[in-house]
Amino acid sequence: MAGRGYAGPDDLAPVPGVKHFARDNSWREAIEPITKDRPFVGTFAADGTKRVSPDPWDAVPPGAGDRVVGVGPGRTFGRLLRDAFPDEEIGLVPVAVGGTPVAAWLPGGIDPFDSENHPYDNAVARIRAAQADGEVCAILWHQGEGDCGRTAPDAYVESLRTVIANFRRDLGLAETVPFVMGTLARFYGDKYPRIAEFAPGIDAAMERVAASTPYAGLVCARDLCDRGDSLHFDTASQHALGERYFRMWRSMTSVPPERLAAQAAKYRDAPRVRTRVLLDPGELLVTSPFGPRRHPVTGEEDSFHAGMDGALWNGRMLLETGICAWKRGVVTEAADGAGPAGTAVSIDHGGGWVSRYFHLEAGSLRVGPGDGVEEGTLLGWMGKTGRATGEHLHFQLERDGVPVDPLPLIAR
Ligand SMILES: [Zn+2]
Repeated sequence: MAGRGYAGPDDLAPVPGVKHFARDNSWREAIEPITKDRPFVGTFAADGTKRVSPDPWDAVPPGAGDRVVGVGPGRTFGRLLRDAFPDEEIGLVPVAVGGTPVAAWLPGGIDPFDSENHPYDNAVARIRAAQADGEVCAILWHQGEGDCGRTAPDAYVESLRTVIANFRRDLGLAETVPFVMGTLARFYGDKYPRIAEFAPGIDAAMERVAASTPYAGLVCARDLCDRGDSLHFDTASQHALGERYFRMWRSMTSVPPERLAAQAAKYRDAPRVRTRVLLDPGELLVTSPFGPRRHPVTGEEDSFHAGMDGALWNGRMLLETGICAWKRGVVTEAADGAGPAGTAVSIDHGGGWVSRYFHLEAGSLRVGPGDGVEEGTLLGWMGKTGRATGEHLHFQLERDGVPVDPLPLIAR
């Protein structure tokens, strides 16, 4: 995705330690817009005229009443990466071209809006030039609207697998360098009925790619908002997407490659379920079911597990993800607790039903007591606070105060 959000003050400030690779192959401050793929990106006066910079690869700083178009998810990803690795210099190489189908991202592929432009070949040339100054640690991908109703899902899967393999081959990347994708949105509505109709099919195709390709991850963008045009994400959503890309990247890179095979073998027969309790597409793989067990921390026999434990399974690896509300309800508890549950949320769904979510990341809660939530509302992020041996969700369902096995009740 090229990114078309309207810049706020934060988007126009440099980020210490984060630069972007401009179109003249020089490193510049990460001030939006960093992706300048089309003429309608940049600084515009209130009457719609574009302010032309003496240097075409730098946007004109906006004056009062001006609007800057072109915020994407990349800068947020870079900022969070820098926060996590404060000793590293972070370089962003924007290569997205708005409105392109996946075929434009094969060698020799053509930008349908500019037949002189070859998005894949240009991207490889630019990234190779940037590699002189550093190492590629991630590829971020958001694309697919242009394939809705035009590329069959099976063909999309084949093309996208080829895109990933080509980037890895042509840039000399190890397969452990994450290729992180995002789903399409759900705001296309009546204005773009073709995209609205076929977006779920493209999403399902991306999910198949994630499940079958080493170190390919897919994050959710279905709950994000448009900028008022039913087509482009608004600025807050671009930031949220950047954060989701970063969290997926971090989760993928925190699993040692040698542990993957052991993990797959260990959980080969574990129950799994598709559920809206997890934000990102995939299944909840149950690492510890509801019922009697030997407690993983105390070792106590015959302890009773009042909920079930699990994490996101993308078909190849267990991952952290956002934690979402089981059903509509009202939040009764949401706090960074010091007890065994750690950072936890409880929701009253009425009719005697209560759901509980334990061990979330401290400081990650998006809801507070008294908030109303819908099915799938993001509550916070998976973590390992409280009595937990690793990142996972403990999900508990109670009816009239009695815990019940949640597995059959959370499928969607
Ligand atoms: Zn548990």
